Amino acid sequence: MGLFSNEKFECARCGRKTEPLGNAPIPTDLGQRIGSEICAECWTEWLEKQKQIINHFGLDLSNPDAHDYLFDQMKLFFFNEGEDLAEIDTSKEGSITW
Ligand SMILES: [Zn+2]
Repeated sequence: MGLFSNEKFECARCGRKTEPLGNAPIPTDLGQRIGSEICAECWTEWLEKQKQIINHFGLDLSNPDAHDYLFDQMKLFFFNEGEDLAEIDTSKEGSITW
């Protein structure tokens, strides 16, 4: 994997040939990857979904575990990597203690 050149950019999630987000939205390797492989529209979609997840599970963002959970969900959302897509679902509602 090298750098994407703009003319060849294709969003890793939606496949649109558009512009990458361009900057890492979070200061991690995952963030770097999102910045170079994901388009701005998909990132906007994620922000909406993230809001839903935070509300749904009542995530406390001062808790590092909540961030880890969100990062896992990002990997699934953008790159379809990781496990338990169903975890976003309602099965764990009320059972998560952060
Ligand atoms: Zn996209």
